[in-house]
Amino acid sequence: MSPLSDFFVGDDGQPFWSRLMDKLSPDMAIDLGTANTLIYVKGHGVVLNEPSVVALEEDRGIKRVLAVGREAKAMLGRTPENVRAVRPLRDGVIADFRVAEEMIQFFVNKASSGSSFLSPRVIVCVPSGSTPVERRAIEESVAVSGARKVFMIEEPVAAAIGVGLPIGEARGSMVVDIGGGTTEVAIIALNGIAYSCSVRVGGDVFDEAIVHYAREKHQLLIGDSTAERVKLSIASAVMPKSEHDDITDKIRGRDVISGIPQEMTIKRSECAAALQAPLNEIINALRHALEATSPELSADIIDQGMVITGGGALLHGLDRFLYEKTRVNVTIADEPLLSVVKGGGLCLESPLFMRTMLIRNN
Ligand code: ADP
Ligand code: MG
Repeated sequence: MSPLSDFFVGDDGQPFWSRLMDKLSPDMAIDLGTANTLIYVKGHGVVLNEPSVVALEEDRGIKRVLAVGREAKAMLGRTPENVRAVRPLRDGVIADFRVAEEMIQFFVNKASSGSSFLSPRVIVCVPSGSTPVERRAIEESVAVSGARKVFMIEEPVAAAIGVGLPIGEARGSMVVDIGGGTTEVAIIALNGIAYSCSVRVGGDVFDEAIVHYAREKHQLLIGDSTAERVKLSIASAVMPKSEHDDITDKIRGRDVISGIPQEMTIKRSECAAALQAPLNEIINALRHALEATSPELSADIIDQGMVITGGGALLHGLDRFLYEKTRVNVTIADEPLLSVVKGGGLCLESPLFMRTMLIRNN
């Protein structure tokens, strides 16, 4: 078929006007994460990937946005007194509505810059544990950014689509999304969620555990950003097998007693010890999921294993740790930080997914 006739008829049988609107409007899928916001634009792929952070300047009670995204994240923990860097979605849902709106608007504008004169249709991924009120808040924040229509999809479903799990089949697929604020566990079959739960444990709690450890064991006060850096460079979910594997990193902070800046060395084994408590909370959620599902679905999962995704899936040794504790095979998703937004994007590209996977807020 020639490109012109393709434009008028279309393999999907959509009417001409609907196809025209689709061609002209930059439809997008947004993964509004507690740590990172990603945007997929139909036909273009992932065009935006920035930290969900806003820097606010406060002058005599009036707040002004100074920076959003990467620039604002660099300010976390080092701002002067009248500037605050905030994460408006800290606990998985919108904690600061007005700031969240400004952030979403900034990202949507950036993602659609100059590409169209029509307002986009937007699919936004929402945590499966969010309440209708929380979903409404997310929906409204996105609508304010100029969306023509807002659709929602549950994050674990988007993640499962994004990693290519066979969610339309009669067998159960298990996906575990470890984000910044929460870990979402879901078992999906026949295009629906058979079981889901969410625990408020994720990358942020791992960082806090390292901060706590440094204070208790080394009497050193370190910031969350330092803890996150250590987590990415040396932390592990499992104890190193040998002394040779027990790699180290330097941490800088303030001595608890003298208040003087200090530099110390922290080992991988220390980080692993610090992370055991939050990791065990994730294990409890997984065990609960496996117990709560029907014997048929659990049998499928024992067969197929689980897929872990979200930034937390990149924690060194996590796959081994989860396998040792649950005896279920663990696969780390390719590009786990992109799974949810890629799933949202695949929905935009597929009329079948558009019809079957999106949810209504009521
Ligand atoms: P959210 O969906 O909540 O925005 P993400 O899926 O984007 O979260 O994951 C962000 C979290 O993943 C952060 O806490 C970050 O520190 C963590 N993370 C990213 N890369 C790694 C890594 N290599 N090892 C451990 N944690 C990581
Ligand atoms: Mg996420």
